[in-house]
Amino acid sequence: MQEIKIPLDWPNLGELEKDYVLKALESGYVSSAGPLVREFEQRFAAYLGISQAVAVVNGTAGLHLALKLLGIGPGDEVIVPALTFIATVNPVVYAGARPVVVDVDPWTWNIDPAAIEKAITKHTRAIIPVHLYGNPADMDAILGLARKYGLYVLEDATEALGSTYKGKKAGTFGQISVFSFNGNKIITTGGGGMLVTANPDLARRARLLVNQGREPGETEYEHKEIGFNYRLTNLQAALGLAQLERLPEFLATKRRHAAIYRRELQGLPGLSWQEELPGAESNWWLFSIVLDEGKFKANKPVLIQWLKSRGIQARPLFKPVSQQPCYRGSNFPPCAIAAQLHQNGINLPSASFLTEEDIMAVCAVLKSY
Ligand SMILES: *Cc1c(COP(=O)(O)O)cnc(C)c1O
Repeated sequence: MQEIKIPLDWPNLGELEKDYVLKALESGYVSSAGPLVREFEQRFAAYLGISQAVAVVNGTAGLHLALKLLGIGPGDEVIVPALTFIATVNPVVYAGARPVVVDVDPWTWNIDPAAIEKAITKHTRAIIPVHLYGNPADMDAILGLARKYGLYVLEDATEALGSTYKGKKAGTFGQISVFSFNGNKIITTGGGGMLVTANPDLARRARLLVNQGREPGETEYEHKEIGFNYRLTNLQAALGLAQLERLPEFLATKRRHAAIYRRELQGLPGLSWQEELPGAESNWWLFSIVLDEGKFKANKPVLIQWLKSRGIQARPLFKPVSQQPCYRGSNFPPCAIAAQLHQNGINLPSASFLTEEDIMAVCAVLKSY
């Protein structure tokens, strides 16, 4: 096996993280009790410029919780993009509702507003746009449709911390938005997530539901609702606080690396990448390319293997939801754009501790094919 010299996505952890986690450990507060969870929530909300943030055990749980908070359940339909990680879609099923999968736009790779409008029925309750690989979705069009048809917007911002759309941060557009702090995301708490909203009533109920339906601070083991154990721990929050402090550094690096990729690869025929909409700025979580099979000499598996043989980790874009065996029988439409992107698309090394030389080395190997 070839050793990985340049990894795709890997946590960027240093002395600050060690320091904060060690202090949390020494304080004895390792579980969800402890002051750092609230501090992390408050700093996260302040960073986004939104009033409410509730920490959760991971992004998937956050999306499930959000659907519950919006009262979405059996008989309801929720529109999701075909090109995304499966965790955008599964929570819709957990909530008892039906996911309706629509195709993406070939330039942004994000949910196509025209396809959304065609899929709306009298059962539609919500749209879940995903800012894929950090690239902001067409929020003006999506919010316009939501207003026109009376739908909720639940932003899957799990990949989009630090991305902006027309001067506002991704994750501040929907009734509720969800972030992920999984090990491979922009910042990590090991595993974790954050549900954010501008609505204090939704946040209050979220705090109840993450805590087994029990009011925070309640002492008699009284459970108002059938809730979940979806809390983040103090130990994880310590890691999150350190990572949040370093977020500006991570974002600057990712954007610099994306600029290098674009500069170096633009001369190569048959290669393209995600386009940002006017006014949108991606965090470039994972810089990704698509091969035009007619023009580029290699196909996807050959190119991934070529990179791997030189110690460079690359990966295909997500397999479309419409092609997933677990959703066989759901009669999702074929979603040709998502299928084509998966067929020919590759994520390239984007870890924030990589150097400019690493990125140049990846470009050189691509050019050498
Ligand atoms: C990572 C991710 C999630 C889920 O987050 P977890 O913290 O891993 O549960 C959901 N949607 C998308 C698009 C993601 O990339």
